[in-house]
Amino acid sequence: MFNFLLGVKKLDQGVLRITGAFVFRHLFVGEKQSVLMDTGYGIADLPKLVETYIDSPLTVINSHYHPDHSGGNLRFKDVHIHPADMPFTGELSIEHLVHTIGMAVMDRSDTRRFVAKTAGKLFRRTHRARTNYTPMPDGTEFDLGDRKLVVRWLPGHTEGSCVLLDPDRHTIYTGDACNTGFWMWTNPKMTLAEYADNLDAFYNDIKDQGYEKLYNCHTPMANKVSFITDFAAFARSIRKGDRAVRIHLPGFPDDPLCIRGRMSLKHMGPMLCFYFESQAAGDAPARAALPGKKLLQLLPPRKEKAE
Ligand SMILES: [Zn+2]
Repeated sequence: MFNFLLGVKKLDQGVLRITGAFVFRHLFVGEKQSVLMDTGYGIADLPKLVETYIDSPLTVINSHYHPDHSGGNLRFKDVHIHPADMPFTGELSIEHLVHTIGMAVMDRSDTRRFVAKTAGKLFRRTHRARTNYTPMPDGTEFDLGDRKLVVRWLPGHTEGSCVLLDPDRHTIYTGDACNTGFWMWTNPKMTLAEYADNLDAFYNDIKDQGYEKLYNCHTPMANKVSFITDFAAFARSIRKGDRAVRIHLPGFPDDPLCIRGRMSLKHMGPMLCFYFESQAAGDAPARAALPGKKLLQLLPPRKEKAE
């Protein structure tokens, strides 16, 4: 049911991109096991669709725990995720809610309000589901039989954001960890300079390993690998007070959400960065600005299952 909302496109040998609701999930079909990276908003019967393409046991992973990538987790029994993005711990759920609320306030058109409301509802449903979460630390490997996928931790978009390396096919699947536009924004616990340092450290680590292209979860075209370091330079160059779009979100009266963009001829497209003003160069993150408790009340802690 509802699977007309999802489309499937072959991206590479054994790699399918599942489209729908402005976010991509990637399915790596293997002989020994198959891996699904991200579950979308959860609007359609993704397990049923995936089953029609695979003959091996399925492992589901989240590139990070944002509702457009993890909303469909509730349809799966077990999901692998980096420990820093593990649901129900720390302050993480603040980000998810801000994401949803941000969508609602940024554009007041009926369609967007509907999307934001539905996303919020789906996210709360996912949060309450009984999915089991398995920690997926940096360096985790998945042996698919005919290919190996390696998880690399690349914090910035969220604290637990990960990318997947496909070394034999020289391809990196970045989720939102490195993207042409940050949807919605970078991790408010980190300055843009710290985020850029992470990107550069990752780039320096993999640049001589023969990787040729990146696929992210929101843009159809592949990017060159040098996009990582070029985006880092862009993020690092943003200064507080730079002219940019500024939006005051509810609960963030002193720390407006900013959007800054740059056209890159080299990468034939825009670079967009969403950030709280306090994350720009020279400023420490304004922790006090986070409306933690108030928002967390919207997501009551999940009750542990009775043994
Ligand atoms: Zn995201």
